[in-house]
Amino acid sequence: MPIDFDLTPDQRKLKDTAREFAREVLRPAAEHADALPDPQDAFRAMKPVYAQAAALGFTTMFLPREYGGAGASNVDFLLAIEELCAVDPGFPTVLLVNGLGLLPVLWYGTESQRETWLRSAAADTTGDFLAGWVVSERGGTANFDHPSPQAGIQLVADRRPGGEYVLNGEKHWPCNAGGWDLRGADVNVCVVRTDRTRGGQEALSAVLVERGTPGVRYEVIDKMAHRTCQNVTMTFRDVRVPEENLLARGEGDLLINRAFTWSSPIASIAAVAVARGAYEFALKWARTFTGAGSGPIIAHQAVGHLLAEVAARIEAGRYLSWKAAHYMDRHPGQGHALGAMDKTFCGEAMQRVVVDCMRIVGVNALDRKFPMEKYFRESMVFPLYDAGNLAMQRRRAWGVMADASFSPDVFADSDPFPFTRAMEGFGTVAGERRP
Ligand SMILES: Cc1cc2nc3c(=O)[nH]c(=O)nc-3n(C[C@H](O)[C@H](O)[C@H](O)COP(=O)(O)OP(=O)(O)OC[C@H]3O[C@@H](n4cnc5c(N)ncnc54)[C@H](O)[C@@H]3O)c2cc1C
Repeated sequence: MPIDFDLTPDQRKLKDTAREFAREVLRPAAEHADALPDPQDAFRAMKPVYAQAAALGFTTMFLPREYGGAGASNVDFLLAIEELCAVDPGFPTVLLVNGLGLLPVLWYGTESQRETWLRSAAADTTGDFLAGWVVSERGGTANFDHPSPQAGIQLVADRRPGGEYVLNGEKHWPCNAGGWDLRGADVNVCVVRTDRTRGGQEALSAVLVERGTPGVRYEVIDKMAHRTCQNVTMTFRDVRVPEENLLARGEGDLLINRAFTWSSPIASIAAVAVARGAYEFALKWARTFTGAGSGPIIAHQAVGHLLAEVAARIEAGRYLSWKAAHYMDRHPGQGHALGAMDKTFCGEAMQRVVVDCMRIVGVNALDRKFPMEKYFRESMVFPLYDAGNLAMQRRRAWGVMADASFSPDVFADSDPFPFTRAMEGFGTVAGERRP
C-alpha cells in the first residue's frame, strides 16, 4: 500500500482539536466581527481568538523545531486550516500570512535574522505576534518578474553610504501588516526594488521592517469578504532600515515564487473548506425541504445529480491539495507548478460548488439568516488572493511546463523538480509569445 491517505493518530487529534476550536471559539467571534462596519474593528475583535489559537500552537505551527516551532508538516497545517476555514476563512488567513512572512526568513535569512524573528515568533507568550508578507502594489503585482525596471515592483530601497537602505513607495493589500493597533506587525517582510536599472529577475530583494519603524503609515482596506483578517495600504516615506535587515538580495523574484508555492495548497484547502460548508448546508436542506412538493427535494434527480457533482469536486480538490502539500513536504522549496495547478483548480472549482449549492437551496440561499450569503462572499476571494489565478498562478505553471526537462510524470512519481529562473517571465510582456 504505497499510497496512503490515512491520517495518523496525531493528525486525527489535530483535526479534532482544530474542529472543536473552530466551532466553539472561532464561530461566535467571527460572526460578530464579520458584521462590524469598520474593518479594523473587525480585525481587532479577533485578537482574543488569536491568543487562544496561539495557545493551541496554530499561529506558528509551521516553524521548525530548531527555532522553537512545532515542526508541523505542510499536510498537518492543511488539516488544521481546513477545519478553521470551514467556519471562517478570514481568520486562518492571518495564520497563513504569518507563514508567508516568517518562512522567507528561514529560507533566505541570515542565522542572526532567523534567531531573532523565528525564535521570537515561536516563543510568543502574549499571543499577539504577527508577521506580514508585503508584496502587492496598487499598480499591480502580476508582472513582478517583468524584464523592464519600469514594470513590476516599484517600492524602492536605495542603498546609502554606510549600508543603510531608504524605502520610498507604497504597498497595497498586504495582510497582517498594520498589526493590531496600526503601528505595524512585529515584522513585515517587504519585497523591494534594490536596483532601479534592472528588470524583476535581477532587481528585487526583501527587507525586514520592524514594528514602529518611522515613516511607515497603514490604512485599512474595507473588503466585502474575509473581514476577519486585515489588509492595508502601506506607505513608505524615507523609511530607514539597517543593512542587516536585507535578505534575498537580487532574488526577490525567486522568493515570491517560492512563498506563493508554499501557500498554494493552503489557499486551496481554504477554498475546499468553504465549499464543504456550503455543501453540508445544501445537503441538509435537500434532505428536509420539500419545495411544497410531496417529499424532500433530494428525491428529484436534478438535485441528486448536482449534489453528487458538488461532492466529487470537493473530494477532488481536497486530495489534490493534500498531494501538493505532501509533495512539498517531500521536496521542500519545489512543487511550483503543482501548487499553481492546485490553487487555480480549487479557487475556481470551489467557487462553482458554492454557486451550485445555492442553486440547490433555491431562493432561500439569498436570505442572510442562512449561511449561503457568507459562503458566496468568501468564495469570491479564492481565485483573486494569494497570487491571482489568472496571471501569477497560471504563469508559474506555464513556465514550468514550457521547460524541456519537465515531464508530466513528475508529480505522479513524486520526483524532485527544482524551479529555475528560466521558468519565470512568461506572459509578462503583453502579446509576446515566449516559448
Ligand atoms: C484576503 C487577502 C489577503 C491578501 N494578502 C496579501 C498579503 O499578505 N501580501 C500581499 O502582498 N498581498 C496580499 N493580497 C493580494 C493578493 O496576493 C493578490 O493576489 C496579488 O496582489 C495579485 O493580484 P492580481 O493577481 O489581481 O494582480 P494584478 O497585478 O492586480 O492583476 C490584475 C489582473 O490583470 C490581469 N493581468 C495582469 N497581468 C497579466 C498577465 N501577465 N497575464 C494575464 N493577465 C494579467 C489579470 O486579469 C489579473 O487578474 C491579499 C489579498 C486578499 C484579498
